[in-house]
Amino acid sequence: MKENIFTLEVQPNIPPNLSRLEELAEDLYYSWDRHVRALFVQLDPELWEACGHNPKVFLRRIAQHKLEEAAQDEAYIADYNRTLSAYDTYHEQAALTSKVAPYIDPDNDLVAYFCAEFGFHESVPLYSGGLGILAGDHCKAASDLRLPLVAVGLLYRQGYFSQTIDHEGNQQAHYAPSSISELPITPCLDDDGEQVQVSVDAPGREIHLRVWQMRAGHVLIYLLDSEVPENDAADRAITYQLYGGDAHMRILQELCLGLGGVRALRKLGISPSVWHINEGHSAFQIVERCRELISEGYDSATAIEAVASETVFTTHTPVPAGHDIFEPEMVAEHLAPNLADTDIPIEDILALGNGQKGFDMTSLALRGSRFHNGVSAIHGGVASQMEQHIWPEIPAQENPITSITNGIHVPTFLAQEWANLFDQRWHAWRNQLLNEDFWKVVDELPDHRFWSMRRSLKSELLRDVYQRVLKRCQRNGMSDAMIERMTSNISNPDPDLLVIGFARRFATYKRALLIFYEIDRLKELLNDPQRPVILIFAGKAHPHDEKGQAMIRRIHELSLDPDLIGKIILLEDYDMAQARKLVTGVDVWLNNPEYPLEACGTSGQKAAINGVLNLSVLDGWWDEGYEKGNGWAILPHSAGFDPEYRDREEARDLLNLLSDEVIPLYFNRGNSGYATEWVKMSKAAMRTTLPRFNAQRMVMDYVSELYAPARAQSKILQADSLSGAQELARWKERVREHWGGTWLERIDAAPTSLLHGESLPIRVKAHLNGLSCDDVTIECRFSAMEEPRDAASTVRYQLQPEGETEDGMPVFAIDIEPRFDGLQYYRICMYPTHPLASHPFEFGGLRWL
Ligand SMILES: *Cc1c(COP(=O)(O)O)cnc(C)c1O
Repeated sequence: MKENIFTLEVQPNIPPNLSRLEELAEDLYYSWDRHVRALFVQLDPELWEACGHNPKVFLRRIAQHKLEEAAQDEAYIADYNRTLSAYDTYHEQAALTSKVAPYIDPDNDLVAYFCAEFGFHESVPLYSGGLGILAGDHCKAASDLRLPLVAVGLLYRQGYFSQTIDHEGNQQAHYAPSSISELPITPCLDDDGEQVQVSVDAPGREIHLRVWQMRAGHVLIYLLDSEVPENDAADRAITYQLYGGDAHMRILQELCLGLGGVRALRKLGISPSVWHINEGHSAFQIVERCRELISEGYDSATAIEAVASETVFTTHTPVPAGHDIFEPEMVAEHLAPNLADTDIPIEDILALGNGQKGFDMTSLALRGSRFHNGVSAIHGGVASQMEQHIWPEIPAQENPITSITNGIHVPTFLAQEWANLFDQRWHAWRNQLLNEDFWKVVDELPDHRFWSMRRSLKSELLRDVYQRVLKRCQRNGMSDAMIERMTSNISNPDPDLLVIGFARRFATYKRALLIFYEIDRLKELLNDPQRPVILIFAGKAHPHDEKGQAMIRRIHELSLDPDLIGKIILLEDYDMAQARKLVTGVDVWLNNPEYPLEACGTSGQKAAINGVLNLSVLDGWWDEGYEKGNGWAILPHSAGFDPEYRDREEARDLLNLLSDEVIPLYFNRGNSGYATEWVKMSKAAMRTTLPRFNAQRMVMDYVSELYAPARAQSKILQADSLSGAQELARWKERVREHWGGTWLERIDAAPTSLLHGESLPIRVKAHLNGLSCDDVTIECRFSAMEEPRDAASTVRYQLQPEGETEDGMPVFAIDIEPRFDGLQYYRICMYPTHPLASHPFEFGGLRWL
């Protein structure tokens, strides 16, 4: 008979003079403050690794004697006191910083930030990738700026999967349930000390949700959890896995997040004034907030105007997998029971989500918000095209989707070594994240110091990489001889090695295999004994993404190719810890997505602030961040080209850049022993990226461009029992009835040439089909080009009402002295406008003459 193995964890008694370590373990402040983490790590580095950098677990497992020694160690206690004093100072500054204060009223304003995933730290596995980490960074920067913000998400018991790669290169996904007691998560208690619970209705039953909370400095994150005894087994599983299950599971999750999230905030007595839907997964919150107003007696059109005016929606990717589309019947079935106490026709709700292929969460989010953005300038444009159907008559580039480029949380992603160096030289640098001028100081760092820092960060990375590869190879039963060959460049690395990193989700559009397109050329480049180069790959593929998994297999095969072995390193289980190591330690960060599908690509920002050089397709943030001398750009071909051709051309550009610029620059060592020009470029990357692409800049843009306007707009529409919202709703209904029959007719002679100095008379007869002159704007737009590409190349003039025609039709008129000389183009259009609208094209109607 096999023996039983019983588990026992002997927990230490924390010495009284170190008691606040427990408090530090409960605040995600540790996810960005390296001094706090160092307090744990130095007690037992091996244990720290073994428990996945999780302070709470660490404190339960650490040996008693180590704590007691630390409690007696003056140096440790000094560290502890210093760190706590910084921690307390951070928390005591409750007032708004001057940066946010002009826009936000701390007593009355509160942003509720909804997202399906949050990535704060590897120890809290509630994220899968970019979206979650961005959401975590948003909260961290909000905390740094003292922006009143609460976040809402789901508590995934199994989180996202962890990844191993077997001996054939197959990805194995492992879902390990995490115990809440091991996470920095506490129950949200009501006045009676009971955990707050809410419910949402599902077909034939209620789903009960417990509410938990996490703290990240000043920001609280509320998490909903369906693991509740009142739920049956299937419903308890709703919040197990992030992006797991089928459409049915997904809609249940989104019901919990959207409806449950609003109900949880209400139950906690929290009244947000701005609601931010960060990606469409949480868009059902719009339905819940409309339901609330409707059950107070408002009609549904007024409710939607009021709700939308205080709602901000950010779309994060052009890739279809990022946009949830459900069968309308399924949506009706799940929402109807939640709307039973109102008389909203379900058709009204379905119409809000009406997309091109079904009920589209992105469409719902767009129709239910008045402030919308993409996450880089290029992506804003792409999203405008993709979502044009919401404003069908408006040219895509003019519709109300704007962009705010993502940024990253600097204290989280800047290597500790850099932070220490900055602390020594410029102690106030943390307050200068919005000041581009300040960062010229980077150029003052001595070159040799810069170079040696980069080298030591690389050595640190390679030590870690070696351990990881060793572990995987041994687990997969690889022979010692083979392991030796695979790790020949990293077991005892030459710090002169040029290391190129490629780490991101293995989604097809990211083209992980592009660099292998002309494999013989690549082999030649990597095998120059004078100029050693290695490539490190890491990333997870979604468990349903066969093509992504095939890419991992292919890289695994290539890593065993006799000409590439030791040069291609494949790492498993890419997470935030590994990302921090990679973005600080490699020399070059490679990114070659299919343009324009990389919405932003924040990992490249993380690399650049650490002085790592980007070698990337000009897509996402890099199109804004790149300038000559701070990295390298691969010019993309548009999606109109044959994919084979695009890949071939861009792969060739990539290899040309490597062979002609990157490798020679790196190995061009002067008398000083380091690559002067490389250091110059590396400094430029840091100096140009740090102040422009950090999360504080991003959050400030949200505050000034979206949150504050949403706040102002909703005050106007919601005053006097939503009278503005009602007026706007009635106006839209009236315009909708009449708009179809409107048209313009030109009644002047429409001259085709003028002399310089003469003016062009324009007279149009407006067939308004029952609308009034006040309901519309009539505009003449001049451009020097036949096809103006953007609003900036166009000059606009507004026509004014000027009497009537004989048959009683309004005439609109203007006399224009043309701004341009020579050949030019103009067109005349009319669109419905109302002073209470958030955007001139909110209604979505436009008629050309
Ligand atoms: C930053 C980050 C991402 C997102 O970066 P991309 O450039 O969009 O791939 C994904 N995963 C991890 C672990 C990250 O740290």
